Amino acid sequence: MTPLPPVHDLTDPTSEFSTGVERALAATGYLFNSANSARYVADVLQSVNLVATTVARTTAPFTGATPAELRARVAAVDLDTPLADTTAALAELEPIYLRDAVYFHDSRYAAHLNCPVVIPALAGEAVLSAINSSLDTWDQSAGATMIERRLIDWTAERLGLGPDSDGVFTSGGTQSNLQAMLIARNHAVSRLRLDPDAAGKRLPALLDTLRIFTSEASHFSISKSASMLGLGYDAVVSIPTDADRRMDTTALAAELAICQAEGLVPMAIVATAGTTDFGSIDPLRELAALSRAYGSWFHVDAAYGGGLAVSNRHRHLIDGVELADSVTIDFHKTFFQPVSSSAILVRHGATLGHVTYYADYLNPESAARADIPNQVDKSIQTTRRFDALKLWLTLRTMGAEGIGALLDEVIDLAARAGGLLAADEDFELAADPALSTLVFRYKPACMDDDEADDINPRIRAAVFASGEAVVAGTKVDGRHYLKFTLLNANTTLGDLRAIIDLLRRTGASLRAATALSGSAVSTSAVSGGAA
Ligand SMILES: *Cc1c(COP(=O)(O)O)cnc(C)c1O
Repeated sequence: MTPLPPVHDLTDPTSEFSTGVERALAATGYLFNSANSARYVADVLQSVNLVATTVARTTAPFTGATPAELRARVAAVDLDTPLADTTAALAELEPIYLRDAVYFHDSRYAAHLNCPVVIPALAGEAVLSAINSSLDTWDQSAGATMIERRLIDWTAERLGLGPDSDGVFTSGGTQSNLQAMLIARNHAVSRLRLDPDAAGKRLPALLDTLRIFTSEASHFSISKSASMLGLGYDAVVSIPTDADRRMDTTALAAELAICQAEGLVPMAIVATAGTTDFGSIDPLRELAALSRAYGSWFHVDAAYGGGLAVSNRHRHLIDGVELADSVTIDFHKTFFQPVSSSAILVRHGATLGHVTYYADYLNPESAARADIPNQVDKSIQTTRRFDALKLWLTLRTMGAEGIGALLDEVIDLAARAGGLLAADEDFELAADPALSTLVFRYKPACMDDDEADDINPRIRAAVFASGEAVVAGTKVDGRHYLKFTLLNANTTLGDLRAIIDLLRRTGASLRAATALSGSAVSTSAVSGGAA
């Protein structure tokens, strides 16, 4: 390797680079270009090595550091006084970030849907950020646009959306759901405008009539989208779920009939394929049929369950997804990709035109006419990362079956852990696992609901503060529960047994401390612990 050019301390007033112009010249030494590849390799390798050694010696998912501790350490850094070089800046990250980060790589992490990541995707991450293609226009991306489009076609084909389908990568399920609801809204409005009575009305009057139907277990981003799209939170009709936490189709049919009788417009039915808490999958075919009957847009939020599209053993669980008008899929969940990597797919590509806006300086209409592929025509973002590259390298290395096998593994693990919890007298399982989550609570014999409500959030906080494990919490029918979200195929049943025992021990000692202090609602027994 050629020797690195010297690093100049840009803040040292006695250095040879004392004037502004000289400092600017020295700063160009940091630009990544053909003259600077040695520095690039050296600095990036340092950071990669640091991450590798940090993860290799990590033995728990967290240290229990508190917000106050980390806020103070971050605040103590003087951002106006740079360090000498990348080595020093990376070393400084140890106390303010790396030591106390939350490690999804660890087998005792069992909380949220953020996943352990596969190595081919990390290789992709290195390439895409260094080349820095932006996927808004062809003249900033070239082949990157073609790779993204191939992956959109591949995904749509896996979902069975048909030859006219299209889509675009997004920052996450929240954005995909927002875009889907935007398309559904504009689709409904354009149909309303066909009615001569409505043609002259202002938009707010039309929006006021639109309703979205989704289950009570659906993701909050649906309600948030309704609010952001000018419909209001109360435009969302929440449909109850059955014992398996799937949308109750009888209740939905009744609400649709009421909507119609009141002269309102059923703008969209939103099914969830993998609810965030229970992993439950709504009855897609029945919902598609109701959608058709009422002329609604049928959106499937498969942010979590999307990975089933590449599962050998569980693909059938999302049968019916091919009937959707639009689908949300999060590659950064069940495809084991780093944040962020997600997409929205639509059955009819032309419906993406609801977000098209031609700007003379970026994507003039003449470019669209000339068939120049500007992805910004389909996206609500402008500058956009080439996140598709991570999935590309993953498919080209592990293959779709490899990804599906990782998901199949954690689905099996959840089933086995569900068996453990169901047989354990100290715990109560809220529902049989559908995908890779388990919702349960600590509730030994003769503990009533109120005591369980008091103690379960405290167990979770205490375990988080200990750093020994990370589990999630949620509410079911108004009661506090604990939750495992399993996405790590390296986690064993033994690991989960150890977490369950930790939860039991923590629960028992909190109970004992509460009994001693004589108060059923004392929270002083366990200090700290962010929720
Ligand atoms: C995670 C999730 C979302 C939101 O996706 P983000 O990528 O976090 O924005 C939406 N819907 C469901 C069902 C999810 O599980």
